[in-house]
Amino acid sequence: MTVEQTLADLVAIDSVSSRSNAEIVSYLEARCSARGLECKRFHHDDHGLEKINLLAVTDDQSKTPFPTHRDSGGALQIELALVGHTDTVPYDPHWTEALKLTERDGKLYGRGACDTKAFIAAALTAVESIDIGKLTKPLALVLTADEEIGCLGAKRLAASRPFEAKYAIVGEPTSLQPMRAGKGYCLAQVTIRGREAHSAYPQLGASAIFRAARLVQRIESIAEDLKKDQHKDFDPPYTTLNVGLISGGSAKNIVPGECRFTLEWRTIPGQGPDHVLNLVRDAAADLQREDGDVVCEIDADRADESFETRAASELVQFLEQASGKTSGTVAFGTEAPGMIHLGAEAVVFGPGDIRVAHRTGEFVPVDQLNECVRILKHAIERFCL
Ligand SMILES: [Zn+2]
Repeated sequence: MTVEQTLADLVAIDSVSSRSNAEIVSYLEARCSARGLECKRFHHDDHGLEKINLLAVTDDQSKTPFPTHRDSGGALQIELALVGHTDTVPYDPHWTEALKLTERDGKLYGRGACDTKAFIAAALTAVESIDIGKLTKPLALVLTADEEIGCLGAKRLAASRPFEAKYAIVGEPTSLQPMRAGKGYCLAQVTIRGREAHSAYPQLGASAIFRAARLVQRIESIAEDLKKDQHKDFDPPYTTLNVGLISGGSAKNIVPGECRFTLEWRTIPGQGPDHVLNLVRDAAADLQREDGDVVCEIDADRADESFETRAASELVQFLEQASGKTSGTVAFGTEAPGMIHLGAEAVVFGPGDIRVAHRTGEFVPVDQLNECVRILKHAIERFCL
């Protein structure tokens, strides 16, 4: 079976994050089992929606011990993990090619063709092209659920630790450039409460919007200060901050009693998710000290860590050499931090361009898809033979 045929099969299975991924997992499990890989399912039931992380390993660990630096506590030891998420973002129902992989001018179109079924198809094809009986170190395919809605599957694996890995290639469209570091992604909902009043008598109320504006201004100066802490491998080379949504008030002639905004920040490696949160909390506390009428609540609801794998890592070196591209960094969220929690040196790598992902008309170039098979095959031989 060619990598294109495999990709066509994967694209034909609708696996948007709002559905169960049981169907695509069954397909992948059958393919892996047929090649002698041992498959383990990790179930999660999300409000009656079955979600599965699938682990397919080349051999029983007990038969192929290898040295590890860490006390595993009984977790399965993997030398190289190829990680791909099985879910996709939703697609426009009018996009007729969404579930029917279509080739035009050397490009393969379909939902997930780029993000990230191309990598999964390449990984599967690479595994099928080698004699796994000859491998001396365990290789795993790690196929996750719910990446597109917050890397939930990878986070569940990181929390339950069913395995530890030494190296992980995390599939995402990077145009086959190895990406060895990524910014973190954090969110907080901020609510400012004042006191409503008739707007003809503002002295009787306390405008939540005026007070929120003061806090937003302070957040803007926090963003300025954050520019001093630089990580040169990123563009821009510092933690960025955004107030992307704001709402409040109930009528033009009412002094607003409440204002809410969403704060998002993307942290450079070396800076914990709490750093910005603490600065914003301090600014809010200052505001409350200065003004007895203001109540400020900050709910931090997401803190995806940044990650960085050292440039000298054997995996980084291997992928740079195999792809002919110097390693870079990504500003979007990936499952790499989850793999790092599982002990791995992780690199994000895959065919296709992230700039066409998530769009109607997403595609992967055929030549990159085939090149990815070649590189992953060499990676397996390099790390597991
Ligand atoms: Zn993706």
